[in-house]
Amino acid sequence: MHILSTPIEYLKGVGPSRADLLKKELKIFTYGDLLSHYPFRYIDKSKIYNISELTKDLPYIQVKGFIVRFEEKGLKRKKRLIAYLKDDTGMTELVWFKGIRWIKSAIKLNTEYLVFGKPSFYNGKLNIAHPEMDLIEDNHEDINKLQAVYPSTEKLNSKGLSSRVISKLIHCLLPLLKHHLEETLSLEIIKRLNLPSREESLFDIHCPSSARRLVRAQKRLKFEEFFFLQLHLLKTQLTRNSRNKGYTLDKIGDCFNNFYHKHLPFTLTNSQKKVLKEIRNDVKKRFQMNRLLQGDVGSGKTLVALLTMLMAIDNKYQACLMAPTEILAQQHFVTISGYLKNQEINIRILTGSTKTKDRKVLLKDLEQGKIDILIGTHALLEKQVLFKNLAVAIIDEQHRFGVAQRARLWKKNKYPPHVLVMTATPIPRTLSMTLYGDLDVSIIDELPPGRKPVKTMWKSNSSRLSIIDFMKKQIKLERQIYIVFPLIEESEKLDYKNLIEGYNSIVREFPLPDFQVSVVHGRMKAEDKEYEMERFLSGITNIMVATTVIEVGVDVPNASVMIIESAERFGLSQLHQLRGRVGRGAEQSYCILVSGDKVSNDARIRLKTMVETNDGFRISEQDLKLRGPGDMMGTKQSGILNFKIANLLVDNKILEFAREQARVLLEKDPDLEHTDNINIIRAYRPYARERIGWSRIS
Ligand code: ADP
Ligand code: MG
Repeated sequence: MHILSTPIEYLKGVGPSRADLLKKELKIFTYGDLLSHYPFRYIDKSKIYNISELTKDLPYIQVKGFIVRFEEKGLKRKKRLIAYLKDDTGMTELVWFKGIRWIKSAIKLNTEYLVFGKPSFYNGKLNIAHPEMDLIEDNHEDINKLQAVYPSTEKLNSKGLSSRVISKLIHCLLPLLKHHLEETLSLEIIKRLNLPSREESLFDIHCPSSARRLVRAQKRLKFEEFFFLQLHLLKTQLTRNSRNKGYTLDKIGDCFNNFYHKHLPFTLTNSQKKVLKEIRNDVKKRFQMNRLLQGDVGSGKTLVALLTMLMAIDNKYQACLMAPTEILAQQHFVTISGYLKNQEINIRILTGSTKTKDRKVLLKDLEQGKIDILIGTHALLEKQVLFKNLAVAIIDEQHRFGVAQRARLWKKNKYPPHVLVMTATPIPRTLSMTLYGDLDVSIIDELPPGRKPVKTMWKSNSSRLSIIDFMKKQIKLERQIYIVFPLIEESEKLDYKNLIEGYNSIVREFPLPDFQVSVVHGRMKAEDKEYEMERFLSGITNIMVATTVIEVGVDVPNASVMIIESAERFGLSQLHQLRGRVGRGAEQSYCILVSGDKVSNDARIRLKTMVETNDGFRISEQDLKLRGPGDMMGTKQSGILNFKIANLLVDNKILEFAREQARVLLEKDPDLEHTDNINIIRAYRPYARERIGWSRIS
């Protein structure tokens, strides 16, 4: 057994109860886990500030002094403890809002302390809140160093797993690991990139002896973390693109030509053409295509999907298109059936609400190859759904589908189908390189001609009258209007109430027979939804009141106003998606974000961003900053984006660089067989084993 696999309870200082805590609270089971529990910041202990030098702009710092007096201020929840800390140059305040009784009993007056913390302003005075306090005599060994600070919470602290304790454990661990930390990169890479060795880096990350060494260690460990992920993704891609057999769709036949030359409702944009060529190039080879199609809302991805499916049909295979919601699947079904009405192509739809009887017939037809195109929701992923020869699978608005579901799609088939994943909105490059780094990427970077950018306004509830006025004018111009209410699962009942109240007040303001109002929400039966959607689609109703069920995909070109209620409760990409429902025709369109008077800081940034830009790429960058990668992509649980030290928000240069290095390496040594690369393959094998099934569409 490798020393890094040693159970954590074997470490000096770790008894059974501490071992339990480490496992439960921090998922630290082994020496190796503890080793990769990295500090999240460092205190510069090489400098002791004079109290007179403190300003609120300083980072975490250290001062030395005596506490001359305590004072409690405020009542109940505002209660705080203030200690007056003095050195030769002046006096400053230390403040605690919690644990007051304990602090008062533990900290001695007129004794010299080293105090660590971040100076800030509170009530017009400079102070340090919740500082760390050390008696001077405890502390000689650590002076003149950067001290690591480990992530910790109130809970961990109260249970005895403070940053200090973890630091002590690591100090017991490191000497045991000397000469046991094998190098994972090749000597060639280390030399060329001038990186410190792995052992050096791991020691320095926990106990840096200088800022320079710390920076080197961080760089190396971040690089390594990205490098192995990229190596894995690129290797997966390489294998699929050159070794995984796929259906050869080399014929462009009647279906494609007929539609393309006779029934295409408009000329394709240059971007659409370019993307189609890339797809065509992939599917005519003998290998499986795995392609990500990125394009902003309204850029015309559906048409590309359709033409791709026709390539399968011309070669006598089946194709499927999977959408994230029932409404969207319905709409795709209607649109595509309309496009192909002059052709002998059998298109069917399968969703959760397909009746058992129909489903039975459908499944049989599917297996016998009588169905050419199957459109549907998650229902397509169920075990009973078997194709005769599925050659093209298209996943619309991908981020709604979990990675596990992507993986399932593949297993249904004897041979892997060509896969095209389409995103609802663009995603930042750092994310696509990580999450979809094993896919080839196509980008549609232009909107169909003649579109006017949507005008976006942010209004508060009090402007309701003028909004209604505006709506009436738009309806007079024969435009249609969406009004969207939030739907958040935890408060579903409340949201439902809001929606129904909103609907009732709209009906009061816009009475029959002059106005027609539709309503669609998640609690309705599928056929009722469909009926209401259809009425809006065909222009019978003027206003559609809905929850976010209409968020993705729905396409009604005549709708020119999108009103979003409680807009402060929506995420950025969701807002952008919703806005994308209008501005699809040639008319000037509007998006009105209605919020309460008071909104949080983040919500303000979201709403302002929406007002400022229509650019999906800019919006997704901002979204990433606000939410972090895991939340943004709905992958928080899956662990794909959980890096130990690297950070997708700030380390994009290292990421690009690591990908490039991995690419160059695989170009020279695709199977990592070269003796120079023995470190790499040794480290890569277990890494890949842990990740099987993750990054694969397959
Ligand atoms: P998304 O990329 O958001 O899925 P859609 O495929 O729904 O976008 O297309 C948005 C709208 O643009 C649809 O009404 C579609 O008919 C129209 N459209 C697509 N391609 C073109 C084009 N080349 N020229 C004009 N209109 C187009
Ligand atoms: Mg779409």
